[in-house]
Amino acid sequence: MTKGTTSQGPRHLKAHTFCRRCGRRAFHRQKKECGACGFPRTTMRRYDGVNRKVRGRKGQGTGRMKYLKDVPRKFRNGFRCENVYLKALPEKKEKEKEKLTFRERLLEHEKKLENEKDKEKPKNNRIKR
Ligand SMILES: [Zn+2]
Repeated sequence: MTKGTTSQGPRHLKAHTFCRRCGRRAFHRQKKECGACGFPRTTMRRYDGVNRKVRGRKGQGTGRMKYLKDVPRKFRNGFRCENVYLKALPEKKEKEKEKLTFRERLLEHEKKLENEKDKEKPKNNRIKR
């Protein structure tokens, strides 16, 4: 039997099936690994030296750009974080302190009540003496 037409008939077993992650028919059934995206690896399969066409399909900017899409905006604002922002503006910091959760407000209220009780007690003691 040759590699040509005569051998095409017996070729009915498939080594690769559809990949759950990338959708290509590249998931090796026996190796249990995708030849295109590397599934079930957590990181996508990639390597240096891919050509221009492949870079256009799988390179930077073809996906969600989850982190990188925010970088130009952050750069413009000097990569400030919340604490730096509040330190620069003391008024804002005080305003942020006023924003308390319900539980924090409840605890403060209880503390006030306790303080009032403590203030009343010494007065009574003085009267007794
Ligand atoms: Zn895949």
